[in-house]
Amino acid sequence: MKKVLVLEDESSIRSFIVINLRRAGYDVVEAESGEEALEQLQQNPDTRVALLDIMLPGIDGFEVCRRIRAGNSRIGIIMLTARAQEMDKVTGLMTGADDYVTKPFSPAELTARVDALMRRSGGDTETGSGEIRQDPFLLNTRNRTLEKNGQRVKLTQVEYSIMRMFMENPGKALSREEILDTVWGRGYFGELKIVDVNIRRLRLKIEDNPTNPTYITTVWGYGYKWGF
Ligand code: CA
Repeated sequence: MKKVLVLEDESSIRSFIVINLRRAGYDVVEAESGEEALEQLQQNPDTRVALLDIMLPGIDGFEVCRRIRAGNSRIGIIMLTARAQEMDKVTGLMTGADDYVTKPFSPAELTARVDALMRRSGGDTETGSGEIRQDPFLLNTRNRTLEKNGQRVKLTQVEYSIMRMFMENPGKALSREEILDTVWGRGYFGELKIVDVNIRRLRLKIEDNPTNPTYITTVWGYGYKWGF
């Protein structure tokens, strides 16, 4: 079952989201506080995507995200942000989220974003399973895991998909549009910026020195390159 958690304290917005996700065929679990959301996730470990509002009465959405990620790297997380102006702050604070949606959003936009993460959250069956080794990295496409120097690097599903795309295209400049299409899927309504947000986080995890990246290099005005 495709299960989604919706955390939103405003009941009218929450109902709007829940109704539309149910209409799109999702099994939806609701929470109106961060504390309740964490409890719901414990009771529903098969939840594959979580939509987290940021401004909440108790612990905020960022804290909920952080606590979820502390124990779960597979679940897809989308932050619901109030205004476009908040975006810079939001992306800077996005410690473990995969995506963000700005209110107000259309039902079609929301379900497209959830669908995209659902595909990334382990629901896909892998084809051509095996390993890609590019020292010091080893990507296991069967378990969807990454090792660097034999040490496991914990990746979200989106980060894994980006890594796989890089490692399958060593030395090739990949445009941000191309990465967005491949990882999030065509027809995705999101912005290119989400690519940069995820790459920044990926660099923190895999680079020897994230401020001077040597594995994922920037191709100015275009995109990124897996720098082998
Ligand atoms: Ca709120």
